[in-house]
Amino acid sequence: MYDLTVIGDGIAANLFLIEYLKKSPQKVLQIHAEDKALPCTQNTTGTIFLKGVEMGRSPLGDLIYRSYHEAASFFKQHNPPGINSATLFYVCDGKKDTKAEFIRRFETVEPIDNFAPTPHRPSKQEWGKTWDGFVLNSTPFREYLDKTKRDLGQGNLEIKEDLLVGVQNGSDHISLKLLNGEVITTKKLVLCTGAYTKLYQKIYPEIPVIANSKIIPGSYLETENVDLGESTFVLARSGHNLIYHSEYKRLIIGATHQLGELQAPDYANLQAAHQNFSDLLDVQLPPISTFSVKSGLRHRGVKKLPFWGRVEGEIYGIFSLYRNGLTFPFLAARELSDSIL
Ligand SMILES: Cc1cc2nc3c(=O)[nH]c(=O)nc-3n(C[C@H](O)[C@H](O)[C@H](O)COP(=O)(O)OP(=O)(O)OC[C@H]3O[C@@H](n4cnc5c(N)ncnc54)[C@H](O)[C@@H]3O)c2cc1C
Repeated sequence: MYDLTVIGDGIAANLFLIEYLKKSPQKVLQIHAEDKALPCTQNTTGTIFLKGVEMGRSPLGDLIYRSYHEAASFFKQHNPPGINSATLFYVCDGKKDTKAEFIRRFETVEPIDNFAPTPHRPSKQEWGKTWDGFVLNSTPFREYLDKTKRDLGQGNLEIKEDLLVGVQNGSDHISLKLLNGEVITTKKLVLCTGAYTKLYQKIYPEIPVIANSKIIPGSYLETENVDLGESTFVLARSGHNLIYHSEYKRLIIGATHQLGELQAPDYANLQAAHQNFSDLLDVQLPPISTFSVKSGLRHRGVKKLPFWGRVEGEIYGIFSLYRNGLTFPFLAARELSDSIL
């Protein structure tokens, strides 16, 4: 019997395992199914910015603020691959995002004469807000998390690749059934299962925090071998993001929508966004036909609140991370590992 089993191999599962294995030499099992349930962490646009969120305004805002700072201090301390400092330029559009709307939301609006530290300048005077933060490239960052976890778990951590298809909550242990028919017993179970928590909800105890959550598909366009300079930056305008990750020469046009789970982004709309960003930067971006589509499933909790804590008995979870899934797990992993040890 395992002391603890973690389901998942996304950012939540791996940060939790790292925190837990640092503190406890127990017998731990990780189960995940990369080929059957692709982690959202693999297909994410990877922007990490506070965008003016402050403490004391709302419970969600407080969690966003605390998690961002937890993540930022992790990046500073460990300098992990895949993470780079970046600047976000959130630019007014004169339609929905007017200067007045920026003042209402952020109290101030600033003239943007150049996109420093990038070499680019807007072709005309723009207004908006600028923030510092980070951009994440999931492949190198996931490799780093995987290695860190395996190093810490030497002798204690076992990893199985299969889909969990049944959970039975007994009086002194939990039985887990895998797709290959294997049955495993564990004392504690931690679900870091993202949107699949909802998709496979029938295998878990019926509880409101899962039942009332939603799956929100998302997709984006990505291309590589683009050189827009040495600085990593994000331009946000009219509901779209242009993300340039200089270390990886990667360019993303983000926040496109899907029809259900179909990979069907609205190219007509994206063509306009692509042109808009070309004009704004005053550069020729690679043609939209050279970008490929990436999709992922986000998990939205009630009132957009994330969940971490006890689900039922000795079943715990970190899920419903939605749009802040790259920062919430830093706080969640520390708090949950402290509370269940
Ligand atoms: C298009 C898009 C853009 C995004 N942009 C941003 C952004 O800019 N900034 C930001 O902070 N967030 C962003 N997000 C959200 C963020 O990527 C996610 O919230 C985060 O990656 C979720 O991580 P997770 O570990 O909770 O879940 P996941 O990464 O989805 O991991 C879930 C894991 O559970 C496993 N699993 C689930 N069920 C089972 C089962 N039954 N058996 C075995 N294994 C199972 C899966 O295999 C997987 O390994 C974006 C998401 C999308 C789709």
